[in-house]
Parts: sequence; structure tokens; C-alpha cells
Amino acid sequence: MLLEWLEPYYRQFVSSVRAGRMPSSVIIAGHEGLGGKLLALEMAKYVLCHHPSEHGPCNSCPSCSNFARLTNMDCKVAYTSSTDEESSGYDFTHDLSGLIVRPEIKQARTMRIDTMRKITGFLNESAVGGSHYKVVIIAGAELMSEGAANAILKTFEEPSKNSLIIMLTKSLEVLLPTILSRASKMVIKDVPVEQAFAYLMNPSNQVPPIIRRVDGDEAEYNAQLQAAKEQCAGLNTPITQQRAAIALALSANAPLSAMKMLLSGDDLKATEVVNALVQSVTRGDAYEVEVMSALKALSNQQQVSLLRTLILEVLKYKAYVPVEQLPLVNYCGATVLERLQLDRLFEAMELLKHIEDRPPLIPARAPKALIRSWLKGFKSDANML
Ligand SMILES: [Zn+2]
Repeated sequence: MLLEWLEPYYRQFVSSVRAGRMPSSVIIAGHEGLGGKLLALEMAKYVLCHHPSEHGPCNSCPSCSNFARLTNMDCKVAYTSSTDEESSGYDFTHDLSGLIVRPEIKQARTMRIDTMRKITGFLNESAVGGSHYKVVIIAGAELMSEGAANAILKTFEEPSKNSLIIMLTKSLEVLLPTILSRASKMVIKDVPVEQAFAYLMNPSNQVPPIIRRVDGDEAEYNAQLQAAKEQCAGLNTPITQQRAAIALALSANAPLSAMKMLLSGDDLKATEVVNALVQSVTRGDAYEVEVMSALKALSNQQQVSLLRTLILEVLKYKAYVPVEQLPLVNYCGATVLERLQLDRLFEAMELLKHIEDRPPLIPARAPKALIRSWLKGFKSDANML
């Protein structure tokens, strides 16, 4: 079933298709944790269904059955890939499972020029699965180099007949204007708070994403699910409204990212950092050991994102935004951080933005060193009061 907040986008697409106005390319833009990939999968399934109705795909034709097995001869996904993945053909494949979950790897993944070139060839072949269309999903277009974008441009300009390209990107700004101007755009907006909470608090959603193919063995799937759940440190602590609020705040309000955080327990680690910071500032001492050790439990990226969110909340609190809207300030007693000077907070924001925008250029220990330096500053502010 489609996630509640994605329904309106899906409905809009279905009515365009039914009205005979299916675009030849659609760009879905939105934070990864909003579920754009799942939306793309449903759209592809609808387009390739042999008996679609206004309610959706039939779920019983050969094409729909193949989608249930997460593969379809008339649909291919262009994934970002490492060199190894590309050489094993996993950059452009009928395997749709990567839209649900992809194993994390150490090597960097990019959207390759060669992958883009393969798309045109595939779309020019005729459909084989009894559908009238062919669909390509480009997952991770924001990682496309200019060369890769140019390689796909011609296909965008002169689309093959009866083809649909769905391009997924974190934001529209990162795409070339020439690409943007030729596609229909779908920007996934912020998820309404009630829908986000309803999703996070529903126990049947509180499970790690696992590839489930309909023809797979049920017992095997259950065993796999159980094993995966046991790996989720975050499930040892009940998922409360408070945890959900903090996880959402730390995930740019994207429910799927927030769920990932809740399952891993990284929200609890983040809360510990804020608690340690609050205690340190409350005491007004220069004792940073607890803050630093709590901070080290998070990845560099999480450290930066936590501190940015926290500073932003403190700034909002200073500007009289109601505390109920500021989960970190509200639940971690961080109102005390209001004592910190405005220019110090702005300066910290600038530094963090700098780190976040240029992750490959900043040595791994840089965030900690920067954070340490302004932690000292925070404390001297607090001491002055
Ligand atoms: Zn069908």
C-alpha cells in the first residue's frame, strides 16, 4: 500500500494517464526519506498494468505479478553505482528491490555516463511483457555528473514512443535547466505532522525494510524479519511520541528517515548529546568530556545535523516560537541554551553549513574540533552570566 502522504501525487499521475496525458518524463523531487522511490515504483506498476482502472493497477495481470516479485521486463532502474556494481551490471537492471532497500557499501556511488547511455537503448527496444509501454526509473539523479546529464538529454528531448522516464532527485536545483524544462515535475512537500506521527507510531511500520518477494518462502521471510529486528538497537526502548518528535526533527521531517533513526536508536544517542550539553551549560563549567563522548557515538554527518537542528531550535526559541514545536528544546530541557549569545549561535550555524556543504573536503575529525572550539565558547558565555 502506498504511504498516505504520497497518495495525492499518485492520484494526480493516474488521472493524467487516464486522460491520455501521460508525460514522457517525470521528475520526482524530495528528501530521500519522503518515499519518492516507492511512489516511482507504484507509478511504473500502474503504467505497465494490462488492466488498469481509476482505482489503480489490477494486481493480477502478468505485469502486476512481476512487480510483486520486484522485477519486470519492461521496467528498468538506473541506480547510482560503485565501480564493482557497474561491472556486475547492477547500475541498470530489472531488479527493482533497490528502490525499497539498498545495501550500504564503503565505496562511493555515482550516476554514471555509461548507465545513462544504456537507457536510450532499452527504451528503443519494443515492449516484451505484454504492456504497451517501457519505463525507466533513474534513482539518484542528484548524483549525475554533467556528462551523465548530457548523455540522457537527447532521450529527454526526443523521447521514444510509449516510454516513461521517472527521475528521482533530492531537489530540483541540482539538475540542469535543460533537463528540468523537458519534464513534468512532482515536488513532494512536507508531510503533514499528523500523518508523519501516525506512520511512526504504527507498530506494523516499526520494522526494518526487507525485500519481500511474493513468491518467496513465508517462513524464511519471517525468520529474516525477526533477525533484522534483533539488530535494531532502537527497538529495545519503546517508541514514544517524544522519540518520534525528536527523530522527525533530526530527519528534516522525513518520516522514512525518522523511522530509520528510531530503529537504529540514533535518536537516543542524539538526545544524550543534548542532555550532556544542557548539563554542562547549566553547570557553567568547561567540562566537555561527557558531551564529546556522547557526540562520538554519532556519525560525522549526524553530529553536524544534530547540532544544526539544535541551534536552529534555540534560535527559534529565542524568537518566541512555542516550545511544543521545538522537540529538542522541549524534551531535553534545552531552554537553558537560550542563554547563549546570538552571534555565537549564528557563527556556529555558518561553520556547520560550511562543513555540511563540503563533506568530502573536511577531514573526519574536523566537525569534532570545530564543535569543541565553540563548546568552549558556549561555556564562556554561560560563565559570564
Ligand atoms: Zn495489472
